[in-house]
Formats: sequence, C-alpha cells, structure tokens
Amino acid sequence: MTVEPNVNLNEPNADISEILISADEIEKRIQTLGVQISSDYAELQPLVVGVLKGVLFFMADLLRAITINVEVDFMAVSSYSPEARDQGLVRLVKDLETPISGRHVIFVEDVVDTGLTLNYLLRNLTTRDPASLEVCTLFNKPKHRLIDIPIKYKGFDLPDQFVVGYGLDHRERYRNLPFIGVLNPQAL
Ligand code: 5GP
Repeated sequence: MTVEPNVNLNEPNADISEILISADEIEKRIQTLGVQISSDYAELQPLVVGVLKGVLFFMADLLRAITINVEVDFMAVSSYSPEARDQGLVRLVKDLETPISGRHVIFVEDVVDTGLTLNYLLRNLTTRDPASLEVCTLFNKPKHRLIDIPIKYKGFDLPDQFVVGYGLDHRERYRNLPFIGVLNPQAL
C-alpha cells in the first residue's frame, strides 16, 4: 500500500475544486432540523434509523440537535453492480437490531440522488409495520430522481455534481472533510 502525503483537510486542497456548503452552514441547518423534529415528535419517542456509512456525521450532529427522547439504530447497504443498482437492487449488509412494528421511525439518509436506494429500504421497512415512517435527508439531488419519494425533512438541495465531505466519500476517502466540496475531476 502506498502512503500518500498528508493534506490539510480543513482547507480547500488540490482534490477539491470548490466548497459548496461550509461546516458552519451545515451546523446551522441541522440545528433547525433538530428543532423541527423535536417539536413534531414530542411524546412519540421515535426510532431514528441511519444508513451507514455516509450518514455518520449527520446522524451524530442531528441526534445532538434533537431535544426529546429518541432511540437510535443503523442499517448498512452495499450496491451490487451498476446494472443491478439501476434496477433498484440493493444488498442489505446490516439490518436493524430494533423491531419497528408500531414504532414511529425517522429514516435518516446522507444524500438522495436517483431515490433507488431509499425506495428499496423504505419498501423493506414498510413490511415491518411501523406506526409511521418519514424520511430525513441532509442532501437532496433532484436532477436524476427516478422515483418520487416524499422527503419530510431536508437539509440542502445540491446541484448535479459529485460531492464529498461530511461523511460522503469517493472510494472511502474524503469522509472526514468538515465541509461539502466538489471533487476535482482529476481526483475521480
Ligand atoms: P440513490 O440510490 O439515491 O441514487 O443514491 C444514494 C446513494 O448514492 C447515497 O447514499 C450515496 O452513497 C451515493 N451518492 C449519490 N450522490 C452522491 C454524491 O454526490 N457524492 C457521494 N459521495 N455519494 C453520492
């Protein structure tokens, strides 16, 4: 394995062509989402479900912005081939530990692009008979949406660009950038 020289990931660098959303903007928006969710779900003790790994930092920050009692669980998915993905096939590599029958579930995603992944997971969860099931995504990329999915809580709309940072990766790198940036095509 080759070890690459360190770059300061707190600053724009050669791999990132543009910072789209700063760490400060992300933090402020998440605070607002936390207030909304706390108000909508007061007394309901929702189960907040995140999809690993991209949701890592969003989940951590959102949960701390929520001021009511919640429970937390995670799922993890992995794509099959690009062809299978186009057909909406997603492999569940980690399932929930919590039964959701009769529970109020808030499903938390990092980014919704085509909507295929989310659609697969929502269909799966719906069969388990939750009392309610709503979607909260930090980023929404509407340009390539193939399936119309109701999103109750949304952080930001993103342009049709491949972004990294704040949990989002390219080949497992750049998740630890504190901002959302556009990856330089040369780094793709
Ligand atoms: P969808 O099934 O909605 O097309 O894709 C959702 C998944 O694709 C996200 O959970 C994320 O893993 C990935 N994805 C979509 N757009 C981007 C992007 O701009 N950057 C990164 N890093 N991942 C993305």
